[in-house]
Amino acid sequence: MARANAAYYAACDPFADFTTAPEISQIFGELLGLWAAEVWQAMGTPDPVLLAEAGPGRGTLMADALRAIAQAAPAFGHALRLHLIENSAPLRAAQAAKLPGATWHDRLENLPPGPLLLLANEFLDALPIRQFVFRDGWRERFVADGRFVETKCPLPLWEGVGGGVAPQEGTVMEHPEAALPLISALAARVADQGGAALFLDYGPETSAHGDSLQALRGGKPADPLAAPGTADLTAHVDFARLADAARAAGAHVHGPVPQGKFLARLGLFQRTGALSRQNPARAGALRDAAARLAEPDQMGRLFKAMAVCHPAVLPPGFAE
Ligand code: SAH
Repeated sequence: MARANAAYYAACDPFADFTTAPEISQIFGELLGLWAAEVWQAMGTPDPVLLAEAGPGRGTLMADALRAIAQAAPAFGHALRLHLIENSAPLRAAQAAKLPGATWHDRLENLPPGPLLLLANEFLDALPIRQFVFRDGWRERFVADGRFVETKCPLPLWEGVGGGVAPQEGTVMEHPEAALPLISALAARVADQGGAALFLDYGPETSAHGDSLQALRGGKPADPLAAPGTADLTAHVDFARLADAARAAGAHVHGPVPQGKFLARLGLFQRTGALSRQNPARAGALRDAAARLAEPDQMGRLFKAMAVCHPAVLPPGFAE
């Protein structure tokens, strides 16, 4: 699965297959840019500071963020050094067209040291997971010759997964194989060198059993095993387990909170109103975009925001 998704992002245009929040509204990236500016203030305005994004896609989120920062927080704009974590060559080219002056890395671990502000929208869901299925004991699911095979394993029964509910025949458990070490390393880094990382993605509030592996091709659900490398593969993000790993590494975790609440607290509706007054012809489209991002039956509830921070940082958007 890891290879299929790497091949997909290296060769395909994911935006033919799904639409993400920054592509729905410019306000999404603007609010996240202002979030970073506020955290930078709370950190004591370090200069220089790394502003990084993991999985920047077309570069839209960061371009919107930088525009808002230049207007509302120019001192932060001067202090920041832009770093992008991206392993797809075509997407790096798309990002370079919008974000001149950025430095690219294949992996988060390759970022230079120093205080860090990291943004990541729909990044964690694209990272490889492992799946286990309960039969007469736990078995791991692998892909071989184009189909799933199950192999008995001496199981790593991760505590807390499934909320302590006993598995039944066919229960599926997922393990965030790539995201866990990534979050641990990031948490240790911000706890040690200062900073905060903000993740927006979709997944439940608490860990649960279940098969969340999904493939999307042309905007429609597809068979994850058909034509590997041509569909986007995603899985729900297990925020609770990632939060535990981040805390164990010394960081403070805020959230997860539903995306709708988070964006409303950052000023989604005020900004929608202000832009609508400047440009009444766009008012309807702006209102629809805000609803798509924030309404519970759209992206407002399934999507969550979670921040992994240095203990001294209290990030905006999380307190009631
Ligand atoms: N954040 C963007 C794009 C989301 S798609 C948006 O919201 O529109 C996922 C992004 O993560 C793509 O840019 C993809 O190329 C990148 N990506 C996926 N797996 C990655 C990995 N293992 N390392 C680095 N980048 C990765």
